[in-house]
Amino acid sequence: MNLQLAAFPKPMTTLFIYSPAEGHTFPHHPENPSRGLAIQTVFEREGLFADLLVLPPTAATDAQLLRTHHAHLVEVVHGVSRRGGGRLDADTYATAESYDLARIAVGSACSAVDYIVTGQADNGFVVARPPGHHAEYKSVGGFCLFNNVAAAARQAQRVHKLQRVMILDFDVHHGNGTQDIFYHDNTVLFISLHQYGHYFYPGTGAANEIGRDKGAGFNLNVPLPPQVGNAGYDFIFRDLILPRARAFQPELILISAGYDAHWADPLASAALSLRGYATLSQQLVEMADELCNGRILFVLEGGYLLDALAYGVLNSTYALLKRDTMKDPLGEFEESETDVQPLLATLHKLHLIK
Ligand SMILES: [Zn+2]
Repeated sequence: MNLQLAAFPKPMTTLFIYSPAEGHTFPHHPENPSRGLAIQTVFEREGLFADLLVLPPTAATDAQLLRTHHAHLVEVVHGVSRRGGGRLDADTYATAESYDLARIAVGSACSAVDYIVTGQADNGFVVARPPGHHAEYKSVGGFCLFNNVAAAARQAQRVHKLQRVMILDFDVHHGNGTQDIFYHDNTVLFISLHQYGHYFYPGTGAANEIGRDKGAGFNLNVPLPPQVGNAGYDFIFRDLILPRARAFQPELILISAGYDAHWADPLASAALSLRGYATLSQQLVEMADELCNGRILFVLEGGYLLDALAYGVLNSTYALLKRDTMKDPLGEFEESETDVQPLLATLHKLHLIK
């Protein structure tokens, strides 16, 4: 045995699929192609693409789409694109190209799962638009057309025969679409950390929405007050996410990765800094190492301050590559954080976590 070689762990094979979807755009809309392009610019500046397994985006098959959506929804989106585009609801738009681009976002998330579950990659990040976590079985919403992360979970189960998949959603908005799709399902553990209130989109995600029938106890909402930051998220990870994940024993962990919980994001009032996002990403990667041979895939959701988004994705990718480094041009949240301990006590009771 070559001791010198054994002293160095083998480099990570981290896949990266990039679909900035420049044809999915609407005047003055926060969810627009500048988001993907900002990420690309930062990755190029940092020279990161050379260290990643960059794979081409691929369109979803009908089967991949129809595992998580009713055929009528798929046809509605297709119809709006065929007619040249328009609004699907007050927040959600489609252009002539959006149907194809949304299929590419779903297909890319599924393809990433194929690579990771078969061992061709250790882990990965899919940066594709439009985002997905507000898309329910029968409805689009919140800038989302089809649910990318949900399709990825079903790909792992139906094609690769995984029994248990965990989805952790750290976007600042509740992942109502993902909750809807798996609400009756005990094979997918869904945990969502989000700012919560009737005033705040989408208004769902209360603590007592715990799942139904077989799915009871497999939907864990963490409805946060405003101004929860690095300390609160760290406490929630140790006190709630890690013990619940250990009890579930996932075979794959999927992350709905939204960077709009950054303190400077214009659409929300959470208080994570880029350092907090980096720490959370490192914790999730370590959790995957402990529970499922490191199999973890980040799938991009929201994030509307371009520097917070681009450096957030950069730092999460450093975590996937297991590089002990991070970049933060924005700095820390300077006010005091809201205490999450009372909320945690409620969640422990609801979910019987010891
Ligand atoms: Zn969001």
